[in-house]
Amino acid sequence: MSGDVNADTVKMEERKYVRLPTFLECGFGNLTNEVTAKRLCCLCGTCAAFCDKIKITEDEAGKKKPRFVEDYDTVCGLCYAFCPRTFLPQAEIERRIFGQKRKRAEEDIIGISRRSYTVRSKRADIHEKGQDGGAATSLLAYALDEGILDCGVVTTSDDHWRPITKVARNYEELKEGAGTKYTLYPSVTGVRDAIEDGCEKIGFVGLPCQIQGLRKVQTADQPYDVGIEKVKLLIGLFCMKSFVEDLLKFIGDTCAKGSLENVKKFEIRGKELFVFEKEKHEISLEEINGYVGDGCLVCMDYTAELADISVGSVGSEEGWSTVFVRTEIGEEILNGALEKGYIEVMKLERNGLESIRRLAKRKKESGMLRSV
Ligand SMILES: Cc1cc2nc3c(=O)[nH]c(=O)nc-3n(C[C@H](O)[C@H](O)[C@H](O)COP(=O)(O)OP(=O)(O)OC[C@H]3O[C@@H](n4cnc5c(N)ncnc54)[C@H](O)[C@@H]3O)c2cc1C
Ligand code: SF4
Ligand code: SF4
Ligand code: SF4
Repeated sequence: MSGDVNADTVKMEERKYVRLPTFLECGFGNLTNEVTAKRLCCLCGTCAAFCDKIKITEDEAGKKKPRFVEDYDTVCGLCYAFCPRTFLPQAEIERRIFGQKRKRAEEDIIGISRRSYTVRSKRADIHEKGQDGGAATSLLAYALDEGILDCGVVTTSDDHWRPITKVARNYEELKEGAGTKYTLYPSVTGVRDAIEDGCEKIGFVGLPCQIQGLRKVQTADQPYDVGIEKVKLLIGLFCMKSFVEDLLKFIGDTCAKGSLENVKKFEIRGKELFVFEKEKHEISLEEINGYVGDGCLVCMDYTAELADISVGSVGSEEGWSTVFVRTEIGEEILNGALEKGYIEVMKLERNGLESIRRLAKRKKESGMLRSV
């Protein structure tokens, strides 16, 4: 046994990897004390996705949080090791994912990336349904059609814009996920659904905190076999903040006659949230500040720095998406989608990149201030 450990250590040293902790003696109580009780939980869903004893439900005050739903905790440490809010060994994860450390000064703000573009889908139907250029949906569509993936885990919504995850296996199902839902939802649980459905090549689209959770699962030096090797592609969305579900009721009452059924789209631009119904309504972000999720206040990742591909709206013209390609698989998918006519791309302008860097810097500074 000790011989195996030594062999492993040597292998690790050869790859210059640091051994990451496994926390085998931490249970749900530790997660509660260090994350949820401190209001750091971002509701990413990683803990609930990989442990059946955890469900994300509402408490007495109507607040969603991870809850332990069995009598006995086996204290295996998995939830603690996987949660992006217990500890995040960013530099070590980057070394394992990207095979390198950050080099350029700008990488300190927006993460390691190979290329940046402004992208638009070439399919007319997605222009209507997509949030920006429909890049997220189109890149997944290419990967599904080519058999690089056998499903894409996306976040759709019900008639009242409450998010739901879906394991999409074709373009029509992917399209159901198009468009931004600005409320918190534990979308990582969709990865568990995909594994349970028998998918072998899973793509996932989600927020920076959700990508952090999945990268921790992928890179942890852990004894847990959760099927994570089936996750092949992570598309991350830019994110300044997200909101608790009560926001939907507020919007309904404020500008949609009590129901969101006729709302076609939500969009945050500048300091406003726009609600596209028959008419276009606008609500100032200041007015809805109280609905921002607790866990968002300490968040420092604007551009999904650990994703294979990051997608956002800032930096591009209306109707186009900004795309950072960060890994080899990300590059392969973007190039393939371009070659096969799924997307058109242009160079990201310098001032677009500057706007992203400004916002990313602001988020890091405010997250850091609030987390001390
Ligand atoms: C909460 C939130 C905040 C955001 N904040 C910013 C921001 O500050 N700046 C910025 O530039 N961009 C932000 N974005 C990203 C932006 O709104 C678009 O999602 C992005 O530009 C991709 O557009 P698209 O047309 O390529 O995507 P589409 O092709 O329309 O696909 C959208 C994808 O987003 C996924 N998705 C939608 N809602 C959620 C959700 N709640 N959780 C997880 N996945 C979801 C869907 O699964 C789908 O795959 C935010 C997105 C979200 C969800
Ligand atoms: S069984 Fe393991 S993963 Fe599940 S709650 Fe307990 S410690 Fe966490
Ligand atoms: S941040 Fe994610 S993994 Fe951590 S407790 Fe909250 S939902 Fe679970
Ligand atoms: S601000 Fe951070 S914690 Fe909040 S939803 Fe976005 S990525 Fe997650």
